[in-house]
Formats: sequence, structure tokens, C-alpha cells
Amino acid sequence: MIRLWSAPSRCTGGMVAFHDGEYDNKYYILAKKKPSPLTGGFDRQYFRSLRTEETVKLSAKAFLATEQRIPGLGNGVLQDILYMAGIHPKRKMKDVSDEEYDRLFDAVKNTLRMMAEQGGRDTEKDLFGNPGGYVTYLSKNTAFTPCVKCGYELHKENYMGGTIYYCENCQK
Ligand SMILES: [Zn+2]
Repeated sequence: MIRLWSAPSRCTGGMVAFHDGEYDNKYYILAKKKPSPLTGGFDRQYFRSLRTEETVKLSAKAFLATEQRIPGLGNGVLQDILYMAGIHPKRKMKDVSDEEYDRLFDAVKNTLRMMAEQGGRDTEKDLFGNPGGYVTYLSKNTAFTPCVKCGYELHKENYMGGTIYYCENCQK
């Protein structure tokens, strides 16, 4: 017979609180709790869980690159992700269809994987001054040049305290 009521008396160890300076940083904590987009833990199901009542109010740019929602995803990399997904950086997430949202997931995974595999973006330099091998579609280097997909001139604009680049024809 299992005497459930007696269990608490045997649990004498208790929990020991652990404190460490680095855990004081809010952003560090947020980033540590979330799976990196380069890992298997960041799957389609997890990405769908990021779509909440709160986050549908955000623009696509804010959704991807604020609150450390997706660790390591900043302003420099989100441009190509939205370009590959065909979503305008200012589009509200509530106007993104399920199909587009799945495409956005693929764009996050594929773009970040390619950047990692090719040693970073060509707009960034490593410690030795060498640029990365990933050819960035949207950056200050390609602003006002023709879109490689459709030929329209690529746009550059200030938005949310940063610069956004996009193709008005490919990104709705
Ligand atoms: Zn285009």
C-alpha cells in the first residue's frame, strides 16, 4: 500500500536557492530560456507558440527582433529573413496568414543556417578583418540597387530606431 500522506516528511532536503551575478541580467535570462534558432528545439511547433495575442499586434520586424524573442536574431539578419519570406518589415503579424507564418519559420531557419555555414554576412568582418561568405540580399551595400528576384529598386528607410531594407514588389 502506498501511503501518499507520509511523503512530505521524507522530503527533508528542500531546495537550495542559487544566485549568480550573470542571472541578474534580464536579457540574459530571456535568451537562455529560449532555444537558439540553429537548434532542433527551435522547430515549427515552437515557432507557432511565439504567435500569441500580444505578438500579433507587432510588426514583422518587431516580432522577430525585439524582447530577445529569438536569440541571436537582430536587425542585421532580419532583413534577409523577411525578404526570403516575402513579408514587409512593417506588416502587422495579425495580417500574416498561416501559410506565410510557416514560410517565415523556414526563412528564419534557412537564412540563419546559411549565414552560420558561410562564416557570417559579407557586411561584417571577423577578427582578422575578413568579410563573411554569406552574400547579403538586403543591406546598405544593396540599397537602391535592383532586387535580384524581380528587378525593382530596393528600398531603404528608417523604422523603429533602425534601418529597414526591403523590396516593395517581393515583400507585401
Ligand atoms: Zn523584388
